[in-house]
Amino acid sequence: MIGADGVRSTVRKLIFGPDEAFFHSIGTMLCAFPLARSVEGFKSGDGLMVADVKRTLTVFPLEGRPSTALFSYRTRDPEGASRKDPLPTLRQIFADLDVGGIISNALEDLATTDDFLFDSVQMVKMPCWSKGRGLLLGDSAWCLTLYSGMGASAGMLGGQVLGEALAACPHDINRALQMFEARMRPFVRKHQRFIALRSQLFVPSNRFSLWGRRVLWQILLCSRKYLFRMSA
Ligand SMILES: Cc1cc2nc3c(=O)[nH]c(=O)nc-3n(C[C@H](O)[C@H](O)[C@H](O)COP(=O)(O)OP(=O)(O)OC[C@H]3O[C@@H](n4cnc5c(N)ncnc54)[C@H](O)[C@@H]3O)c2cc1C
Repeated sequence: MIGADGVRSTVRKLIFGPDEAFFHSIGTMLCAFPLARSVEGFKSGDGLMVADVKRTLTVFPLEGRPSTALFSYRTRDPEGASRKDPLPTLRQIFADLDVGGIISNALEDLATTDDFLFDSVQMVKMPCWSKGRGLLLGDSAWCLTLYSGMGASAGMLGGQVLGEALAACPHDINRALQMFEARMRPFVRKHQRFIALRSQLFVPSNRFSLWGRRVLWQILLCSRKYLFRMSA
């Protein structure tokens, strides 16, 4: 049996035990949802970021679909926070950051949709991804979090590596699972190592990180513009 049922995997709970045994909190919360309209003063394809220490709003433009709003903030008790009602929580945390009404407009859209994700950001770390004939794959096994930018690729790679291992050892499941772990572990370890650091890019935890984040984004945006001009 293969459990590929995401970070809060039921298969993992049933076979391996409670979430707390495998969750490694980054100390951040996220709330993601589609915006019903473009942000006032910005074109529909524009992305934007509102950032302060321990809280950010990022709007990601998506081709042919409404933009996605991503609210993130840091908290000492992410699991407790994930049981709260997102709307009043975000209204309170972002109240004094409402530049030009961007925050309140976005939160109005949250109020009118049930298509949202409000959750703590958790890395999943497990000593072994299989037990007997049960195996975990993707976020359920090794959640790299959104900060890695590699979660989807890791899930697909896991499927491919598992398929190859099973094809190589069609009559020996245990050997195939060992082969799968041996090939996937280094990849997962490499990407999990820098998650806490990368989270600073999304939600800076102090003034120094906020400043570093601004500088880095400026460099990225300038080099992107430069490359775009070169290729035009
Ligand atoms: C806001 C946000 C932004 C992200 N951005 C990126 C990005 O830019 N790049 C990137 O690579 N990754 C990104 N990720 C991470 C990426 O989405 C995940 O790593 C990836 O989706 C993991 O795939 P998965 O198949 O393991 O789990 P999931 O995508 O979570 O899929 C699990 C599936 O199992 C289903 N399921 C759960 N329980 C049951 C059940 N009991 N019965 C039946 N079905 C069940 C769920 O409905 C779901 O469809 C982001 C994540 C978030 C939250």
